[in-house]
Amino acid sequence: MTLDNDKISMIADQCYRVIEENTRLLTSLDQAVGDGDHGLNMVRGFRALREVAAAGEFADYGQACKALGMALVMNVGGASGPLYGSLLMDMGKASAEFPDSVEALHQSFSAGVEAVKKRGKSSAGEKTMLDVLVPVCDLLASGEASVADIRKAAQAGLDSTRLMRATKGRSAFLGARSVGHIDPGAQSSYLLINAICDAMENQNEP
Ligand code: ADP
Ligand code: MG
Repeated sequence: MTLDNDKISMIADQCYRVIEENTRLLTSLDQAVGDGDHGLNMVRGFRALREVAAAGEFADYGQACKALGMALVMNVGGASGPLYGSLLMDMGKASAEFPDSVEALHQSFSAGVEAVKKRGKSSAGEKTMLDVLVPVCDLLASGEASVADIRKAAQAGLDSTRLMRATKGRSAFLGARSVGHIDPGAQSSYLLINAICDAMENQNEP
């Protein structure tokens, strides 16, 4: 299957829904280790992203990712806006072609994850969204991951943040007191990856 304009719009819709349904969860996680705005930040951003995706007949994948990433940068607010925005914008820089294989998807996603690391000066193990994004990206590299494997990797990454001590972002100010809490950005990444998996599975149904 090819990740074309129609699929992008369908996935964007699914992503918005899951964020909207889980706004309170994201808010409460961010109240524990941050400033409590992650839920509303994400709803605002993904509402804008859904509108851009629904309206856009993008000439190529690069343009699509750029427009969607910009929607997040302009509307999310907080640290997560530029980070999720960079993820999307750099996904589109890897190739202009709409991805039509797991390899192409991995190439794109991996460029996006590298952009998050660069922008956040961060890596996996610091109690951030990267603790979900990096293992999922590593799994895609194998070329043999099932949707169930992707969900499992995202879940394991999310759970791993609970016992981590934050060294990046607002929660780093808590030091040792950040231990025992799930990271809000890891939670939103987990939800988004699951929403994308749902969209992919629905596509495969006869
Ligand atoms: P803010 O922290 O500015 O209030 P949000 O609450 O929207 O922004 O987002 C917080 C999330 O952003 C964190 O839970 C974490 O996952 C992610 N984050 C923050 N800083 C970084 C960073 N340097 N690298 C990667 N992710 C980060
Ligand atoms: Mg916050």
